[in-house]
Amino acid sequence: MNQPQSKIIKLQSANELRRTMDCYFARLKEAVDTRNKKIAWCTSVGPAELLYSMGFEVYFPENHGAMLGASKTADKYIPTAVAHGYSPEICSYLTSDIGAFLQNETPLQKSGFKSVPKPDILVYNTNQCHEVGDWFMYYAKHFNVPVLGVNTPLWINELTPSIINSVANQFKDLVPELEKVTEQKFDLDKFRETVRLSHDGCVLWRKVLETAMHKPSPINFFDSAIHMGPIVVMRGTQYAVDYYKILLAELQERIKNNIGAVPSEKLRIYWDGMPLWYKLSSMAKLFASIDTCIVASTYCNSWIFDDLDPKEPFQSSALAYCKLFIVRSDEEKQKVLEKLMFDFSIDGIIYHDAKTCSRNSNNRFGLPNRLNSKNNIPYIEINGDLCDSRCYSEEQSIIAIETFIKQLSIRKQ
Ligand code: SF4
Repeated sequence: MNQPQSKIIKLQSANELRRTMDCYFARLKEAVDTRNKKIAWCTSVGPAELLYSMGFEVYFPENHGAMLGASKTADKYIPTAVAHGYSPEICSYLTSDIGAFLQNETPLQKSGFKSVPKPDILVYNTNQCHEVGDWFMYYAKHFNVPVLGVNTPLWINELTPSIINSVANQFKDLVPELEKVTEQKFDLDKFRETVRLSHDGCVLWRKVLETAMHKPSPINFFDSAIHMGPIVVMRGTQYAVDYYKILLAELQERIKNNIGAVPSEKLRIYWDGMPLWYKLSSMAKLFASIDTCIVASTYCNSWIFDDLDPKEPFQSSALAYCKLFIVRSDEEKQKVLEKLMFDFSIDGIIYHDAKTCSRNSNNRFGLPNRLNSKNNIPYIEINGDLCDSRCYSEEQSIIAIETFIKQLSIRKQ
């Protein structure tokens, strides 16, 4: 198959991103080597603010899963997890992560780690899916450390006070258990400050993503999927705030000079669902070669928790983490998508049906049809997976994407 010519203009901030992420892993490594801080494992949309405010270094197994996907090693590890009783149909972040652990391998070894950092405690929130509970329990058992969970209902239609209060109370209930591990008293002012930093980081991240409303868009989905690292793993720290100020300034400069992420942007696409981590770079080249920019996505938008409010840190954390797209009903998701289609001037939608992540595959219960009958924006669905590349047929998908783009071009003319 001919490789598309790259027309991508790289973001200069990528160097600063690398430095910011390297420093994050260096802090984790220091905690492993010196035990200067306790280590908490947290789900990607779990209570990171609470953990950072209580002095933990925080490690995110999903970030590790994405690293395994992006480094194209997940396929090597998934069968090991399957051989230990995990179905190949469940989350491939989970199976690749546990498989790598069982093989005693991790991309972190390149950064000097012997293994993934041993947790002192694990904390999950089921707002994204229930798999995370099983995933964290595996490690809690293995390391013989406590695991705590916030149980958020799925398919939330209306965000009622009873849901918010229940989740806020579960956040509060984490505190005494976390205190036992840190052996320090919880400090409400520190928590407020961490919530403020998280809020500020999220607002900057929103602004970064919203620069894509400009035509041409200065950023595309493939950039965003990489540059979202700090908001995922350093949410609630000054590091994330500092990084997004730099990235935002670069994007605003691009807008001023009319520089697009895809230089001759003709079509604007919305990507729904998970990235194909093992195909990020070739997909970026493919879309650039057909003058198409993926300007917005469900995935990258998921880390905008701007309802966080230091005045009400527990209530607002509950609100922010229950308002999240993935936890909402299809009815609510459709409202969010309708607005995004309009705000980002979307010409077409690609739904990625990820084999092992039903929660982040929004095409399965008729949503694409319902949305299309309302706004008449064409769409296609492609089958694949976040980490398990065996679920993805590249040839078939490229044909489907190129045909779709041709149809959209004709339609636009
Ligand atoms: S939301 Fe999907 S990808 Fe994320 S942990 Fe759950 S199943 Fe895995």
